[in-house]
Amino acid sequence: MNKRAYNFNAGPAALPLKVLERAQAEFVDFRGTGMSIMEMSHRGAVYESVHNEAQERLLRLLGNPEGYKVLFLQGGASTQFAMIPMNFLKQGQVGSYVMTGSWADKALKEAKLFGETHIAASSKEDQYMRIPDLDNLELPEHTAYLHVTSNETIEGVQYQKYPATGQVPLIADMSSDILCRPVDVDRFDMIYAGAQKNLGPSGVTVVIAKEEMLAEQAERIPAMLRYSTFLKNNSLYNTPPSFSVYMVNEVLRWIEEEGGLSAIEQMNRDKAALLYDQIDQSGGFYRGCAEPKDRSLMNVTFRLASEELEKLFVKESEKEGFVGLKGHRSVGGLRASIYNAVPYESCQALADFMEAFQKQHG
Ligand code: PMP
Repeated sequence: MNKRAYNFNAGPAALPLKVLERAQAEFVDFRGTGMSIMEMSHRGAVYESVHNEAQERLLRLLGNPEGYKVLFLQGGASTQFAMIPMNFLKQGQVGSYVMTGSWADKALKEAKLFGETHIAASSKEDQYMRIPDLDNLELPEHTAYLHVTSNETIEGVQYQKYPATGQVPLIADMSSDILCRPVDVDRFDMIYAGAQKNLGPSGVTVVIAKEEMLAEQAERIPAMLRYSTFLKNNSLYNTPPSFSVYMVNEVLRWIEEEGGLSAIEQMNRDKAALLYDQIDQSGGFYRGCAEPKDRSLMNVTFRLASEELEKLFVKESEKEGFVGLKGHRSVGGLRASIYNAVPYESCQALADFMEAFQKQHG
């Protein structure tokens, strides 16, 4: 095999090599069936066992929280931005949002199409470089839910603790940091994530939610946009993205083999420290975008003195086999996405490259 790239893509992103190799080994003949998993009916026992195994594994990794169900949906996390208000924001109620960056902003925009919204807190005036203080959060009467974005993929800020919402349901977009560390699922009524960062390939969106919340029968909502459709049919109402679900199951198996979420968190902390230390020790050559207390374990965002120098950094890094270090087009700068599957060695190589680049251009 050719050397694997130092892959810092933001999503779709690096997958564990072990998972890719296992998928390759069973690609043409899935466990003696004479078919690929992609070629078989989603109503058959073989696919269904994979589907159910993925759900069970995910709940097990999360400590088997009581009363929660896992759904597999399509349309990406972006469709959740609309489905949440469609299903949960009733007339006379308010959907509350914490504004932490570009993705929270998109979620709010969609909610505005369906009902009344409220900004519970925002760090927009600080260019989203921190998570706003949520200690004494006050929510309007008739708040249907509070929506948070646990990790802002573009700005590189991540919640270190979640707000107390009392009786108000807490909903989290965990697209870019799900399973990066242990999480107290009981605090949330619903968690959702597009798979293509920490869970697998694109094509499936995972929802983990309280069953009673999903069962709520929303009226006049198309079947495919209603959570209860997926709950009642075990996410097999229509054809699911079967290959993506299979890959999610394999990624979850890999997380278990690595020792579960505490072990994954430690690896992520070690990887992130390599890069943040490099930034902090650079004497201002590299400038981290996020306030240190809210720095993301997943997306390390930083800048150089000029856009020209940033362009040069990207160009030279590509020559050395690094991929995906250009910041999101909306904010510029540089970004290293270091999701669960990005190996420590890649982060070490990047830290070394950063040091060499500074020596040459500092
Ligand atoms: N939320 C967050 C935090 C994201 O990072 C992304 C994708 N980068 C999305 C939502 C949108 O996800 P999708 O492309 O699956 O619609």
